Amino acid sequence: MNEQLERLIELQEVDLLLDRIRSEIDQIPQEIDRLKREFEESQALLNESKKKMAELQVGRKSKELELKTKEEELKKHQSELFAIKTNEAYTALLKEIEEGKQLKNDIENTVLAVLEQEDALLTEEKIKKEELAKKKEEVTKQQKELEDRLQRLKQNLQEVQSEQKQKIANIKSEIFKRYQRIREKKDGVAVVPLTNGFCGGCSIALPPQLINDVLKGEDLVACRNCLRILYLKEGK
Ligand SMILES: [Zn+2]
Repeated sequence: MNEQLERLIELQEVDLLLDRIRSEIDQIPQEIDRLKREFEESQALLNESKKKMAELQVGRKSKELELKTKEEELKKHQSELFAIKTNEAYTALLKEIEEGKQLKNDIENTVLAVLEQEDALLTEEKIKKEELAKKKEEVTKQQKELEDRLQRLKQNLQEVQSEQKQKIANIKSEIFKRYQRIREKKDGVAVVPLTNGFCGGCSIALPPQLINDVLKGEDLVACRNCLRILYLKEGK
């Protein structure tokens, strides 16, 4: 095989590896962001519960205050009953007391219902708090793992980059330029195998003359359709 072609194949292996490492490196910050967002969403849910609880408590306190006023009013009316002279006034006040009692009863029921809601919310909040704590632990652990992986990838990238430099140094400049041009336009793959008479890049059937040229292995031969450089796989 053409010696330069052999080197191109080796270089491409290294370049594809570099592409993979770089894309993994690029994905890590997004992964970390996703984890943070997940945690913030859980946090927001808990905050919502807390806000709802505060609203319930404010509402309940105002009802309790209303209840107290109502009770005092009733007490006052009860004592007034004894001082009344006419039957008419007596009946009217009795009616007012009855209505007041009913109203007091309604307020008490409302307060009880709110207390029940608060209890349910408190249970819910407790679960959310536990979930959040768990989530925090999980997110911290995963983030650490991702950061460690990023470090390893960066180190790996440096190592492979120096390997890449060495490989490039052994390739003639005009061949390297051609290789780079194809790689940029063809998804990073510039050198492809000839497989059963087909181009390993674009899968087109290659003319016999071209196949012969590849078999000879003297010059660099390109697929006429995708322009990728062809090589013969070992043993074929
Ligand atoms: Zn092709």
